[in-house]
Amino acid sequence: MSEEILINVTPRETRVAVVENGMLQELHIERGWRRGVVGNIYKGKVQRVMPGMQAAFVDIGLERAAFLHANDVVRPPAGTGNGDGDSLFPAPGPTLPVNELLRDGQDIVVQVVKDPIGSKGARLTTQISIPSRYLVLLPQSRVVGVSARIEDDVERTRLKTLVSELAAATGGHGYIVRTNAEGQSAEALAEDVAYLQRAWALIEHTTADARVGARVYEDLTLPMRAVRDLMRRDVDKVKVDSRDTYEKLCIFAAQYLPTPGPAEQARLVDRIECYTGNRPIFDMYGVEDEIQRALNKDVPLKSGGYLVIDQTEAMTTVDVNTGSFLGQRNLEETVFRTNLEAAQAVARQLRLRNLGGIIIIDFIDMVDPEHRRQVLRTLEKSLSKDHAKTTVYDFSPLGLVEMTRKRTVESLQRQLGESCTACGGRGIVKTVETVTYEIFREIVRAVRQFEAERLLVIASPRVVSMITDEESAAVVELEEFLGKSIRFQSDDQYLQEQFDVVLL
Ligand SMILES: [Zn+2]
Repeated sequence: MSEEILINVTPRETRVAVVENGMLQELHIERGWRRGVVGNIYKGKVQRVMPGMQAAFVDIGLERAAFLHANDVVRPPAGTGNGDGDSLFPAPGPTLPVNELLRDGQDIVVQVVKDPIGSKGARLTTQISIPSRYLVLLPQSRVVGVSARIEDDVERTRLKTLVSELAAATGGHGYIVRTNAEGQSAEALAEDVAYLQRAWALIEHTTADARVGARVYEDLTLPMRAVRDLMRRDVDKVKVDSRDTYEKLCIFAAQYLPTPGPAEQARLVDRIECYTGNRPIFDMYGVEDEIQRALNKDVPLKSGGYLVIDQTEAMTTVDVNTGSFLGQRNLEETVFRTNLEAAQAVARQLRLRNLGGIIIIDFIDMVDPEHRRQVLRTLEKSLSKDHAKTTVYDFSPLGLVEMTRKRTVESLQRQLGESCTACGGRGIVKTVETVTYEIFREIVRAVRQFEAERLLVIASPRVVSMITDEESAAVVELEEFLGKSIRFQSDDQYLQEQFDVVLL
């Protein structure tokens, strides 16, 4: 299987596409003009300790001095450093008066927990935490904690034991096991630990020689996260359409990724390519079209059938429909084949559209229990490529398959779209005919209620053209009945359901 990562960079938006065998499988989007500084780590200098406020101002090289409260200062453990609080990497301890923890002019390593807003400086902590895909490294701690959102006791114990062993073997640091670690292999977690250890070593190394105000760690950008998470898999190429991002990724890959030897490292960096073609990178690979299709409700299948995917507040439903083969002789066999294709298509669509929560699949009815088993197996096998955790349950008495998919980011539809104003998100608008008769009723109501010589009706072009065309006789009747003249004006700013009856 060939896998490629395509990265499209524009000033305000970065998109990462995962393409397997020429087919788009995943899309990640990061938007925003200015990234904040939250998560960044700086070498700072304490400017002023303020005992009255139990806090200190710290210069971290930003426009305004940042704020560090005593509660967010961790103390060095007994027996290490000089114990008076000026260790670069203190460990957790009970809160002391701020002037026992910090002194003016002291160098200190801090992480930003809140962006500066208006005249307020950034808020800091000395408790460093570095996230990776499945873990968060707490270099000053020795505790391994598991996210409460992982509910299964056996899985919690497995993860805790696994990560504790990995931690003990690599430096005894503390870790938080994140929710999406659920079900991940020992290898995947070991890679995360190795990555975090390299990141931490680099931070310590950089900090030693850094000047005050230097940023020694930056929260990873989407392209970097993509390379970090995806290069460990069998990715043939990472293609990026920005020279600047390309250069940053090469440096990042060389610094952070597993590098058994110089040859390996060279091979790894070689897999990152700068795309310089004239056609936009996503056009070149048909990704743009696939993104458009991923916003449609209908997904055509090769067999002639199709899926209808509906997202509601509570769940996502997938309806599998037959094509036009119903007259064929071997119906059960054709249904079976369509369901097999649908099972693969559903797995791909869930990943591509990043659908989560409860998902209900209504396959075409099958009589043969062996066919049902095979469809279920195909679904499970196709889902195994998904990085999000999925659980599939058996066919329900009504022939539905229930499953769940855990994800941390909103669905593609919610990321790219908003509820339609024309239909108010119902997915259906009143027909031109329905609106026409509504207008007729409103005219009668208005004339009975108010005094008026003439009436003006403003509506959408389609509605007005129906009234003045097919319904022109009805308008004449209405004018005679009411004894008023009615004029119709089309306005293309009006949505199909909108209209105004104006009394003149
Ligand atoms: Zn709509």
